[in-house]
Amino acid sequence: MGSRRRFLIQSFLGAIATGFGFKYGFGSVTYSDPNYPQKSEVTSPVIISTWSHGLAANQAAWNVVSSGGSALDAVERGVNVSEADPEVSSVGYGGLPDASGNVTLDACIMGPDGNAGAVAFLKHIMHPVSVARKVMENTPHLMLAGDGALKFALDQGFKKVNLLTPEARKAFKAWKRSGARYAPMANWENHDTIGLLAIDQKGDLAGACTTSGMAFKHPGRVGDSPIIGAGLFVDNKIGGATATGEGEVVMKTLGSFLIVELMRNGMHPQEACEAAIYRLTETTHVHKNMQIGYIAVNKNGEHGAFSLRPGFQYAVFENGQNELLDTAFLMDWE
Ligand code: ASP
Repeated sequence: MGSRRRFLIQSFLGAIATGFGFKYGFGSVTYSDPNYPQKSEVTSPVIISTWSHGLAANQAAWNVVSSGGSALDAVERGVNVSEADPEVSSVGYGGLPDASGNVTLDACIMGPDGNAGAVAFLKHIMHPVSVARKVMENTPHLMLAGDGALKFALDQGFKKVNLLTPEARKAFKAWKRSGARYAPMANWENHDTIGLLAIDQKGDLAGACTTSGMAFKHPGRVGDSPIIGAGLFVDNKIGGATATGEGEVVMKTLGSFLIVELMRNGMHPQEACEAAIYRLTETTHVHKNMQIGYIAVNKNGEHGAFSLRPGFQYAVFENGQNELLDTAFLMDWE
């Protein structure tokens, strides 16, 4: 039995996957019946997000939806928490810098009306996702990058701040001392992008994704997190998905869009996340440090998550309870 299948069988969710798995397996995807999900409509809000810092983000998002606020406000308020947290070294303030020592941020947001906004390679702004929302609402564009994004943010009233915390500066100096080898890797220590999906009391869906990207990345590098369809995708009729991990692979396979399309064709969010991970193994060289994680929720509030390797977790706030769940995975670290 191959190691891929073995690891699937070791987990409960993996066991579900084997039931469906060889339908899409390692060959081309065979769609399930093209029915929309059958469960009845959502009666209470659901929030899901990536990684353990998703718990605090979920709480902030929950506070919005539980008091009748919109999913769009919820996802922004939610990920704003991680962006401002100096302890989260992969998002916003406190994020690890690029190979030149600059903290550069990528973020996007997508609402139930199908509108979206994004910023890439943005410096000096504490809340890139809020700038992304302004791009969506106040410009005819989807994405602004670099100096233009910064100018826009300042014009919109955002304040210029120093995002490099003493801890991040220390980590950067240690990396330089270690030989400053240019080899950014999405291993479990440095890929903790927050992606958050929310369903509000009206049943509307929104999503947001924000990151400082891979630690010590090449200056100018932009990952999947601000790319609609890659790091995040929402279709208010179907569901939403968001990604963390090696952005280059997520972009090449348009993972979040793929997951939403698979849900559109009848897959449960869990199956769809698994299928998207399988899919990338068909077209991508899976190197030994590669990690990718996806989370997804459908219109009915059913959710799922799956990762290439062990270690990925996602936070779920539903029925008044916020908890961190381990995800099933495809293969072990080599
Ligand atoms: N997906 C992010 C990127 O490639 C990394 C992460 O998840 O932290 O920039």
